[in-house]
Amino acid sequence: MNQAYSLFNISDKIATLAETCEQEVENLYQEAEQIALYNQAKVLKAFQENKVSQAHLGQTTGYGYGDIGREAIEKIFASIFHTEDALVRIQFVSGTHTIATVLQAMLLPGDEMLAISGRPYDTLCDVIGLTEKPDPLSLKSYGVSYHQIDLIDKERFDIEKIVEYVKNHTVKMIHIQRSRGYEIRKALYISDIQEVIQAIRQVDPNVIIMVDNCYGEFTETKEPTEVGADIMCGSLIKNMGGGLAHMGGYVVGRSDLVALCANKLTCPGVGREGGATLGQNRNIMQGIFMAPSVVKNAIQAAVLSAAMLEKLGVAIYPAVWDKRSDIVQTIQFPNAEQQIRFVQGIQSASPIDSNVTPYPWDMPGYEDQVIMAAGTFVEGATIELSADGPVREPYTVYIQGGLTYESAKLAICKAIDNMISEE
Ligand SMILES: *Cc1c(COP(=O)(O)O)cnc(C)c1O
Repeated sequence: MNQAYSLFNISDKIATLAETCEQEVENLYQEAEQIALYNQAKVLKAFQENKVSQAHLGQTTGYGYGDIGREAIEKIFASIFHTEDALVRIQFVSGTHTIATVLQAMLLPGDEMLAISGRPYDTLCDVIGLTEKPDPLSLKSYGVSYHQIDLIDKERFDIEKIVEYVKNHTVKMIHIQRSRGYEIRKALYISDIQEVIQAIRQVDPNVIIMVDNCYGEFTETKEPTEVGADIMCGSLIKNMGGGLAHMGGYVVGRSDLVALCANKLTCPGVGREGGATLGQNRNIMQGIFMAPSVVKNAIQAAVLSAAMLEKLGVAIYPAVWDKRSDIVQTIQFPNAEQQIRFVQGIQSASPIDSNVTPYPWDMPGYEDQVIMAAGTFVEGATIELSADGPVREPYTVYIQGGLTYESAKLAICKAIDNMISEE
């Protein structure tokens, strides 16, 4: 057995389990490698088509007018996602801010938003106004109406209901969330998204179809904009940043819609022309370059954790052999103690803050206590191995990320060992 296990104080039992599982899922690893190879070619081609040079790795300060590196990055994104245009900015604070910017740019007073993959990601509920006391700046407060159609069995679009609704209402924008986010549901496949978009287009060629692509990028060989989505967005401290981007978000899609988003992010008149890059162009460029491989590492880490935990009788979702369309693995522990020990194990194997022990705490905006492991280089970056969940039945942990497969594997072994060890 490799001495890494003893160096890292991992028991023989768990080391053997890891080796066995790895062999059993070999085909899944190869599939992930094939997808990464294709996406790497897509990324390299985008760099070459847009003639990226050393000059593009520079920076601007102040207003940031005429930043050729930023412009090159936006062309690369448009090439990768097969869209007319892209807006890639460090002025986007987070994924939530990026998505909110898109919603606020598309939806004006009197407009209607239709969510067709169920309730959107938690943090967007404040933006939309799906809370008890909607914020005065929520969409709801300024007169945008909202309707939601849930997935059937938490895994399929309710196409009949969606088509019927779109036929009988004047919907301005349709919202699709590709990843499970922090719900127990399937990540929607590109084929699912293609099918629903085709059905919608037959009854309404004009409705704006928007996709929250967070956690989904490069997990398949196509992206939602290649199957008909008009506008799509995501975070740079998840998949697309490849672990190197320090902050930011992206919007890609139809050029008229991207222009609206630029005006919303800055202001009318400034639009996309301003926005200093403060030395981030190199990280963002190199991050895109790394992203297909990093996403592959994260997928392989998710598969390994699922395979090992399943053998120990812990409930997991998606199943080991399920096709994936995001990097998230859901785990349901039998009790709080195992949940907490697993998360603490992940933290103890991290490169940063390994000496810190996470405990359940009252996180603002959450009803139950939450436990979180995030020993990351970039604060809150969930493309780096991280694990979190609410401490209540069914003791769920969402685990995602892994910059390198080796570091993720060691952390998962450590976490499982910690979970099963006696005090
Ligand atoms: C992470 C995520 C968001 C929000 O991104 P933050 O950067 O955490 O604000 C929104 N939607 C989905 C599906 C996500 O995974």
